[in-house]
Amino acid sequence: MLIDNEKKLKFDDTFKFSCSKELKCFNKCCMNLTLMLMPYDIVRLKNALGLTSSEFLEKYTTWHIGAATGLPVVVVKQVDGACPFVTSEGCSVYKDRPSSCRLYPLVRIKKTDEEYYHMVYEDFCEGHNQNVEWTVRDWIVSQGAEIYNKMNDIFSELVLGIYTSGKKLNGEEIAEFYTACYDVDSLRDLADEFGCRRKEDDVEQMLEGIELMKKKHLY
Ligand code: SF4
Ligand code: SF4
Repeated sequence: MLIDNEKKLKFDDTFKFSCSKELKCFNKCCMNLTLMLMPYDIVRLKNALGLTSSEFLEKYTTWHIGAATGLPVVVVKQVDGACPFVTSEGCSVYKDRPSSCRLYPLVRIKKTDEEYYHMVYEDFCEGHNQNVEWTVRDWIVSQGAEIYNKMNDIFSELVLGIYTSGKKLNGEEIAEFYTACYDVDSLRDLADEFGCRRKEDDVEQMLEGIELMKKKHLY
């Protein structure tokens, strides 16, 4: 994979891309990949699959400690070198596919004072050769990525805040962070123990968990 770090694409910048089932490369982008999940990705996917967050995390993901942040990072477990959600017809969770799948072939860089995108190139991806032009803004809207960007920013503030503070969480704090940020149904069950509000809505409960971690580690 090549990321064109030289070029910063802003909202009104344009690029050419089109993806379809008819292309020879169809589904190749869903194989041999590291697919990281953000908290909002997990809420959308577990609901699409009719699972609790614990069931989803257990069945479809693994996690490790991020080298730079020291925080848990959730990644989709591949099955035979492919994303478990890919089928011969394409993505089986398309309506609720994760943020990075939505933005592809763009990667988003969000800093406090600016937001821009880099283009990603894969040898096999024929999407770049199609004569369909997009602005970055239109691509984001067409892929339903606005809400994902918004939710990911709320989580990234927490991760970046802990990272820039230099704080390293201990084992117990890491387990708590994992539940609070990624396992929304368990957080709801443990709300009293965690000292956060119990919410019926999964997204609100997820936001409660992230806010709880911000209060504990940043404020
Ligand atoms: S065009 Fe690119 S994104 Fe679309 S199926 Fe082919 S490899 Fe995947
Ligand atoms: S979630 Fe869907 S789009 Fe994303 S890698 Fe898996 S099958 Fe492909």
